[in-house]
Amino acid sequence: MARFIEPFRVTPGSSVKLARDFDPAFKAGIEKKKDGVQLLRDGIELLSEYQARLAAQDTYGVLVVLQALDAAGKDGTIRHVMSGVNPQGVRVESFKVPSARELDQDFLRRYQERLPSRGEIGIFNRSHYEEVLVVRVHPENLERQKLPAEVRKDHVWRRRYDAINSWEQYLSENGFRIVKIFLNLSREEQRVRFLRRIDLPDHNWKFSSHDVEERQFWDNYQEAFSDMFSHTSTQWAPWYVIPADRKWFARIAASAVIANVLIELDPQYPRLGDEARHDLEQAKLSLEAEAPSGAAADPFEHAEQSN
Ligand code: AMP
Ligand code: MG
Repeated sequence: MARFIEPFRVTPGSSVKLARDFDPAFKAGIEKKKDGVQLLRDGIELLSEYQARLAAQDTYGVLVVLQALDAAGKDGTIRHVMSGVNPQGVRVESFKVPSARELDQDFLRRYQERLPSRGEIGIFNRSHYEEVLVVRVHPENLERQKLPAEVRKDHVWRRRYDAINSWEQYLSENGFRIVKIFLNLSREEQRVRFLRRIDLPDHNWKFSSHDVEERQFWDNYQEAFSDMFSHTSTQWAPWYVIPADRKWFARIAASAVIANVLIELDPQYPRLGDEARHDLEQAKLSLEAEAPSGAAADPFEHAEQSN
């Protein structure tokens, strides 16, 4: 798992140029969708098992940050990757254009308010990184944030990167692991997917002419992403750039990245202390004494003791 995802990891401190360093069509030697079916199944099963342990241990939380350009497949990735997990243990938070109230608050506040708790996997469908992406590509967004003049003038992105890094470090030191995924789509594949949304009636609802207008800012976004990866991939919260021209591959890779974080955390089911074990034994004796005649006192008596 660790080896499979290594090529996607942005080395902390490296200087990234998206177009030069990451190929949206990379398949890691998996030729066809059908060759990847079992892999995806394995990844989903791993996630399901580890998520149950994460919830039972109730010590760590996991935040998955998902960023992408339009039509890169964020929604489908969330649907597939999380298809096997207990809905009680995950929460998906989507971030849209900030409200008037949010614009009156510091830029990290709304993200802080929607973090996962211990035992949970939280997915940010868009995230605090929009604050250095769409806000950077369209500076009128920054205007709306009403920052004091001295904060706005120089190095505003640099300072945001620092703030984000510190915030993420603080979270990781408090038991929240952060894993950041970017679905890397090529310009041509985006064009094709937009056309699909236009041509297939059941997909029309997904189409937005605003998304097509955003395409004109493709190069600005590529630059903003590259700069963001160069400054915010850290030891405690690395970025993974996942090839997204093939949906099936992106799903395998995303599930592998998330599974890997859980494997590293290695959450365990809590084991009972002596006192709790004693209580259990007492309860067992009284339940056995209640057995009606003819029934086994304890049908699980010979079941394997896993505690
Ligand atoms: P969607 O995810 O397709 O529903 O679109 C959400 C829209 O909200 C996108 O166009 C984002 O660019 C926009 N958005 C998300 N976060 C911010 C932000 N912090 N500032 C401005 N626009 C944002
Ligand atoms: Mg959209």
